[in-house]
Amino acid sequence: MSPEEFDDSRFERSRRQMVEGQLRHRGIADERVLAAMGRVPRHLFVGGPVRWAAYEDEPLPIGSGQTISQPYMVARMTELLELERDSRVLEVGTGSGYQAAVLAEIAGEVWTVERHPELAERARRLLEDLGYHNVHVEQGDGSMGLPRQAPYDAIVVTAASPGVPPSLTDQLVVGGRMVIPVGGQVNQRLRLIRRRPDGLRETDVLGCRFVPLIGAQGHPSAESRRVRVLVEGRVQGVWFRESTREEAERRGVRGWVRNLADGRVEAVFEGEPAGVDALVEWVRRGPERAVVTGVTASSEPPQGERGFRVKG
Ligand code: SAH
Repeated sequence: MSPEEFDDSRFERSRRQMVEGQLRHRGIADERVLAAMGRVPRHLFVGGPVRWAAYEDEPLPIGSGQTISQPYMVARMTELLELERDSRVLEVGTGSGYQAAVLAEIAGEVWTVERHPELAERARRLLEDLGYHNVHVEQGDGSMGLPRQAPYDAIVVTAASPGVPPSLTDQLVVGGRMVIPVGGQVNQRLRLIRRRPDGLRETDVLGCRFVPLIGAQGHPSAESRRVRVLVEGRVQGVWFRESTREEAERRGVRGWVRNLADGRVEAVFEGEPAGVDALVEWVRRGPERAVVTGVTASSEPPQGERGFRVKG
C-alpha cells in the first residue's frame, strides 16, 4: 500500500464516521445529502496544516481569514434546500468550494460567487480537477446575487448577512428556497425563506456563526482607502466644495475638501475602496459649472476620518 492509498483509506474511514456520527445520528435524514457528503473528499478542500482535522465536528480555516463550515451545518443547509436532480442553485460565498461540491453532487447546475479572488481561483481549479463540471465559480460581490443566470430553484448564502437581501429573493423561482444566516458579525440565526405566489415565508432554523457577508447588500468592508486629490482648472466659485461633500455623503465616503490660495481644490477621501474610487472619478468632471483641467491623486494610509467637512 502506497502512503497515498493509506491516507485515502484513512480519510475514507473518517468520512464514513462523520456521516454516521455527526450527520445521521443528529437528524440529517435526506439520503441524497448523506450520500453526497459521503462522497466529497472534504480533506482536499482544507489546506495542508489542518487536513488531518477535515472530518472533525468543527469549522476550519481555509485562508484569507475565511472558514469552511462544520459538516453538520453544510448538511443541514443542503437538506433545507430540497434539491432535485435538475435544480439550478446559487451559492454566495464559495470559500473552499466544499459546499458547492456537495450541492453539485445532488443538483443539476450550481453557480457560486466568491469575493476573494485567490479563494475563487483555488476553488475553481480544485472543482475542475475533481470533475465537478456542473459548478461555475464566479468572482465578485454575490450579495446582489447573480442576475445573469437567475432564476434559481435554491439559493444558499454561506456568509452572515445583516438582513435578507431583496435582490436575492427576487432571483428565486416561485416555490424556491433560500437559506441564509441573518444577524450581526458574530452571532446569527439561520433562516429558511420560501418564495410563495403570495410573498415570502420565513422560518427560523437555528443559531449559527458565519464570517460576514461583505458587499453592497451585506456588511461594509473593513478595508479602508485614503486618497488625497488636487484639482486644477476653473474649480473655485463654482460650487465645487459643496457638490463634493454631497457626492461624498451619498457614497458614505469620509474626509474633507478645501480651496487652496493658488486656485486649486484639495480634498481627502477615505472609506470603502469602491466608494473612494468612484468619488475620485466624479472629481475628474466636477460639478456642472466647473472646468477641470487636471487631477492628481495619491494614496496614503487611512487616518480614521469621521464625516465629511468643507474647510474654509
Ligand atoms: N461555503 C464555503 C465557506 C464559506 S465562508 C465552503 O464550503 O468552504 C464564507 C465565504 O463568503 C468567504 O470565503 C468570504 O470571502 C465569502 N464572501 C463574503 N462576502 C461575500 C460576497 N459579498 N460575495 C461573495 N462571497 C462573499
